[in-house]
Amino acid sequence: MASVELEGLELRYPNGVQAVRGLSLAVADGEFLVLLGPSGCGKSTLLRLVAGLEAPDAGEIRIGGERVNERPPQRRDVAMVFQNYALYPHMTVRANLAFPLRMRRLPRAQIARRVQDTARALGLEALLDRRPGELSGGQRQRVAMGRALVREPAVFLMDEPLSNLDARLRLQVRGEIAELQRRLGVTTLYVTHDQVEAMSLGQRVAVLRAGTIQQLGAPERLYERPANLFVAAFLGTPPMNVFRVALEGAGSAPVLRLGAARVPVPALAAAPAYAGLRPEAFRLAARYPELPAVEVRAAVVERLGPEQVVWFDAPAAAVDPLAAADTPAPRMAARLPPAPALAPGESLDLAFEPAAVHWFDAGGRALARPGT
Ligand code: ADP
Repeated sequence: MASVELEGLELRYPNGVQAVRGLSLAVADGEFLVLLGPSGCGKSTLLRLVAGLEAPDAGEIRIGGERVNERPPQRRDVAMVFQNYALYPHMTVRANLAFPLRMRRLPRAQIARRVQDTARALGLEALLDRRPGELSGGQRQRVAMGRALVREPAVFLMDEPLSNLDARLRLQVRGEIAELQRRLGVTTLYVTHDQVEAMSLGQRVAVLRAGTIQQLGAPERLYERPANLFVAAFLGTPPMNVFRVALEGAGSAPVLRLGAARVPVPALAAAPAYAGLRPEAFRLAARYPELPAVEVRAAVVERLGPEQVVWFDAPAAAVDPLAAADTPAPRMAARLPPAPALAPGESLDLAFEPAAVHWFDAGGRALARPGT
């Protein structure tokens, strides 16, 4: 096991795409760190740099404290699992697991022991004599992970390993990966564009956009204190509702206006340009007469069992932070308890705590309140 340190990494592909820009990141020994971001933000490129499949234009990669920039992939002691895991179809699970060790010419007894240990760790013991064609998708994925783990790598790299599995299997294997990683304590870098996967697996999550890290931290920290509008909007389903701030009473006591709601703006480091409210910040106003409230008309109601998501036509100032600058957002969302059941077309008053408002400056950076 080993730490992984990336320092000032740059990578531009021959076609001119700058995939990684001045990126630095330290993964602790035994840590499970998730790289999360939209397609094309450079996640896979970063893994390939660590694995040695790409060489950086600048910067240093250290594994276990040692510079590995000049080392070929097979001498970096990393194992990689991709979404398209290819098992040898004509070999049994046992032979598939043994294959990387046979390539390294390990003694037979040692191969047998490691295969047995890995099979036990992954719950594959009963399947050792089957061929891949006789396994379920989840079992095949476990064998693919086993084939990476059997080498006892210092670092485990996973690139969207669940994306080819159906939803139910994805949940199951996700749980298995989390459990296995905790038990084995292998330093793991895990790439996904799926925020639920990232939040549920990562001890820390690095949110990437256009080859740079937007924020790095524990999942709940990113959710509660997003550093900027991108992170705020990328984490959470439905995403945070964001709108341009219209202030009243400028000067000493500015007030945020959202429909009929008025919220005093707290003392911030700079003037806010955007405000955000998570869908779960809204409640039905009838029971909270003391809170500011907006009157909205439900456009779509999604009854999800434990909750209902109400989409309503957004006030004109609402924007979509993941789109180009100040693109209007047609709808905003509220997550409410399942009862009373709401219907499309219904008018409702939605209240929210002033303290639930996130504030951002004109550049989209979060504005911390004094004392937080
Ligand atoms: P992600 O894994 O986040 O989807 P990638 O690391 O695959 O992103 O890609 C980052 C950027 O680099 C994208 O714009 C992509 O089109 C580009 N890219 C990826 N691989 C290559 C390549 N081999 N040659 C040129 N451009 C590439």
